[in-house]
Amino acid sequence: MKFYVRTYGCQMNVADSNEMGRHLMAKGLIQTQDADEATILLVNTCTVRQHAEDRAFSEIGRLKRWKTKQSGRKVVVTGCAAERTKEYLEDRFPFIDLVVGAKSIEDFGEMAHRLLDKRSTDEDFDYAVPSTDEKIASFVTVMRGCNYSCTYCIVPYVRGREIYHPMEQVLGEVRDRVEEGAREITLLGQTVNSYRYSEHRFADLLEAVAAVDGVERVRFISPHPYYMTDRVIETMAVVPQVCDSLHLPVQSGSNAMLKAMMRNYTREQYVSLAEKLRRAMPGMTLSTDIIVGFPGETEDDFEQTVSLIREAQFENAFIFKYSPRKDTPAATMSDQVPQKMKEERNQRLLQLMNDIGSQKYNQFIGRQVQILVEGPSKRNAARMSGRTRCNKIVVFEGSDRHRGQVMDVKVTRVGSFTLYGDPAILE
Ligand code: SAM
Ligand code: SF4
Repeated sequence: MKFYVRTYGCQMNVADSNEMGRHLMAKGLIQTQDADEATILLVNTCTVRQHAEDRAFSEIGRLKRWKTKQSGRKVVVTGCAAERTKEYLEDRFPFIDLVVGAKSIEDFGEMAHRLLDKRSTDEDFDYAVPSTDEKIASFVTVMRGCNYSCTYCIVPYVRGREIYHPMEQVLGEVRDRVEEGAREITLLGQTVNSYRYSEHRFADLLEAVAAVDGVERVRFISPHPYYMTDRVIETMAVVPQVCDSLHLPVQSGSNAMLKAMMRNYTREQYVSLAEKLRRAMPGMTLSTDIIVGFPGETEDDFEQTVSLIREAQFENAFIFKYSPRKDTPAATMSDQVPQKMKEERNQRLLQLMNDIGSQKYNQFIGRQVQILVEGPSKRNAARMSGRTRCNKIVVFEGSDRHRGQVMDVKVTRVGSFTLYGDPAILE
């Protein structure tokens, strides 16, 4: 029997999908990339922005046809939107077999067991040896939930308060991933660097994960500026496996907006943190998340975000148009920004990031970079793709034998946030 997974949203959702996939594989199911071959179709939803939720719901609507095409097919809906709208989903899409909210993902194994036990007898349950997920760069969730109350964000409502996984459990998962072929581990959590378990803090976890045999690189996402302590920065600087790139969400360059968002740092504190990181790790790259059009954002507030992008020298940024989320404080703030203005500001920041990105990426032409090869390129499956320690994607004409290798590639040209390597130097 085969299953197919469709994931919406962030890397935490990708990691949750992988975890649920592992539960299904442990029960003998095989993952397929073709929904038509599947008996179980799992839609892992996201509710952080309205757009992601809408896309997932229209996908679920289309699954009614998929389900009736073959008897015994099952539809499973999981994740944040499933947590928030369980009753609505069951009413609107009665053909769904199982709804698993984000807070219950850890119980998915047990739920899947019950779902599969109810299978009809005409199913071809073949118990083939599960195909292992041979990911070179793998994610390990170290904490769930969030104790913050950023006024725009629905995550604390749908994922609950912070729960930390015991360090031994995390290390066990890291060893499992390494055994399956991983060489790079990304530790995941909504405020991943707030991790604590008994006497252990995040820096201890970084050190311990880096010390696992076979771990070549360690990354983490999403850190919160508040928990980027001196000890974490020093650990990043001295532990060679920890990569010198950081995705550190800032959200806005305006102190008025940061305050209204309840981010608990100022622009100046963020900038001095970025400087401290660069002093500890010269050459490190910084990327970020930015929200445009938060309620009350004036042209001046927006310009301060523009100037912060230059001042903090971000390499890349995910730009989000503010999306009002039900029951969050910002959704009922009186001075909502018109959609047209959000779109305009979004376009302006995207253009700015493209300009900065192409300047930064062009500097690599002619240079040799070291990459960890992950597998076929997502944009062109005939080519291979890897990443530098600074998290730049490099595409080159390699083959499957390069997968998992750390190798040098000479950059010959650049594309949009991508470096292209010279195949000649591979031989
Ligand atoms: N916990 C991380 C942090 O505090 O930086 C980020 C997790 S959040 C799921 C990912 C990003 O989504 C945020 O950094 C923010 O930029 C964006 N986001 C969250 N809520 C949003 C909303 N209501 N509208 C637009 N973007 C939002
Ligand atoms: Fe949301 Fe803020 Fe928690 Fe990040 S820290 S998940 S943005 S509430």
